[in-house]
Amino acid sequence: MIPFVDLKSQYLSIKPEVDAAIQGVLDSCAFTLGPEVVAFEKEFAAYSGADIGVAVNTGTSALHLALLAAGVGRGDEVITVPFTFVATVSAIDYTGATPVFVDIDPATFTMDVTQLEAAITGKTKAIIPVSLYGQPADMGPLLEIAKKHGLVVIEDACQAHGAEYKGQRSGSLADMTCFSFYPGKNLGAYGEGGMVVTNNAEYARTIRMLRDWGAEKKYHHVLKGYNFRMEGMQGAVLRVKLRYLEGWTEARRTAAAHYDRLFEGTGVVSPKAASYSRHVYHIYAVRTRNRQAWQDALLAQGIQTGIHYPTPVHLLPAFADLGYKAGQFPHSEQAANEVLSLPMFPELTAAQREEVARAVVNLAGGEIASASSAKAL
Ligand SMILES: *Cc1c(COP(=O)(O)O)cnc(C)c1O
Repeated sequence: MIPFVDLKSQYLSIKPEVDAAIQGVLDSCAFTLGPEVVAFEKEFAAYSGADIGVAVNTGTSALHLALLAAGVGRGDEVITVPFTFVATVSAIDYTGATPVFVDIDPATFTMDVTQLEAAITGKTKAIIPVSLYGQPADMGPLLEIAKKHGLVVIEDACQAHGAEYKGQRSGSLADMTCFSFYPGKNLGAYGEGGMVVTNNAEYARTIRMLRDWGAEKKYHHVLKGYNFRMEGMQGAVLRVKLRYLEGWTEARRTAAAHYDRLFEGTGVVSPKAASYSRHVYHIYAVRTRNRQAWQDALLAQGIQTGIHYPTPVHLLPAFADLGYKAGQFPHSEQAANEVLSLPMFPELTAAQREEVARAVVNLAGGEIASASSAKAL
């Protein structure tokens, strides 16, 4: 069996350090926030090219609080893409603001920045480009448009730890950048976690208060806040894992380059890394018109795959109230129908990659053969 991800082998590779870090938190009894979380905030902000990090309990909370810090609320509009994990849009909804969608560039699966300006209205307050699968959107023109219209940019980098745009890290591009440390993400906690990084001290101060009941100091609640604190154990585990992140990211990039080579000239539609990006391959998704058949056939050969994501958010029942219809965001809809995520994790071996690629190329080859024999008839 080739799994889609393998959290166990990664844990075993760093077990003594992780176990000691967890024991340290048990010994200190600093179970929520505390010195390990403070140290992790500093270390991860530095890694991401930002001045300040504020750790929270999930990536969703990071997005939610970043929006609140930007002053987003009822009556405002926030622009994002429909081809994302639902949390991006839920975070907008939590603030009372209205999500407004812009379609994706089908080549990169990120926001089509050429369509952005047409979506801006007098109510637009912020833009959330999603660095889907591990590469940023075309941030240069996006930031220019935001500046021209006075909009706050919040990068959803929940899948893009260590990604870069023209040599600059996700974390140093937007006004605020949000990360998730869900276990399956490129930097994963042993539980839940998230962070907002920023160079703006005022945003950071507001988020710090909002995550801890809006308190300026103990029991002095100046904002209506939340309990979105990061746990001490997650901070301690994440500090250990951060030291390995660059190595793991390079292993993902090596694996992706290997897949790319194995698919070259075979008719398999492999994902495109834009020339501006350092893609960190949280997901390696190919496209196929026969996804269900491919997924079933691969599973029968012992190869697990995933679908990220099968329904664009504008067509999810939960967001029917937004009033969107099928056909409005064709590139997002087509991607949702065609993408198939292949096994991708740092410990994936060259032999496993070859086995996966052989199986996928066989499926694609069979289709090309049957399509051309159909044409011959
Ligand atoms: C994982 C993810 C989130 C949410 O992060 P959680 O930590 O699971 O709350 C938000 N946006 C994207 C694109 C994600 O992949």
